[in-house]
Amino acid sequence: MAVLEITKVPDKILKRKAKHVSDFGPDLQNLIDDMVETMREAPGVGLAGPQVNQLLRVIVVEFGDEEDEEIPPQLYTLVNPEISKMSKDTVVGTEGCLSIPELVGDVERSESITIKAQTRHGQVTKLKASGWLARIFQHEIDHLNGILFTDRAEAIYRLEDILAAQEAAEGEDHPAEPRDLPPLG
Ligand code: ZN
Repeated sequence: MAVLEITKVPDKILKRKAKHVSDFGPDLQNLIDDMVETMREAPGVGLAGPQVNQLLRVIVVEFGDEEDEEIPPQLYTLVNPEISKMSKDTVVGTEGCLSIPELVGDVERSESITIKAQTRHGQVTKLKASGWLARIFQHEIDHLNGILFTDRAEAIYRLEDILAAQEAAEGEDHPAEPRDLPPLG
C-alpha cells in the first residue's frame, strides 16, 4: 500500500467526469487500498478517484457514529456509486475538501440518501445514509461528476480567518461560538 499524492485545485482533473469502472482486477484493488491509506494519512473522512489523479468512479469513506463515539468508524469502499433516492429535507452544513486546502463552505445537502453501487469486487449493493454520512457521500459522488463543494456553497470562508477568529475568541470572557472545523473529504 502507498500514500498517494492528493490532487488540489486548480488541477483540471477535479472538474472532469470520472469513468465507469468495469475491471475489478488487481489494479483496482491496489488503487482502493492506496486510497484508504491516503484518506487515513491526510486525515480525511472520504476520498474520490479524481482526488488521486484517477478518473475512475471509485470512492472511499470512513466515518464514525455521530451519536456514539465508542463505535469505531466504518469503512465504505464503493465503485460506480449513484444516488438513487434523495430526501426533500435538506440541511446546511460546513464542508471542507482535501483538494481545496484553504477554504471551507456552507453547503445545502439532502438529509438522507439511498445509494446504489458495486462493492470493490463487483457485487451490486445498496445502502442508506443520513446526517453527516449522507453529506460525505454526496460530497464524494460530486467529485466523480467534476463538482466541488465550492460550486454548491452558499457561503465560503477562508480557513485562516476561522482559525484567527477562534484564537481571538479564546481571550474573551464571553467568546462568540467558534465555527467548528469540518472533517475533510
Ligand atoms: Zn472533496
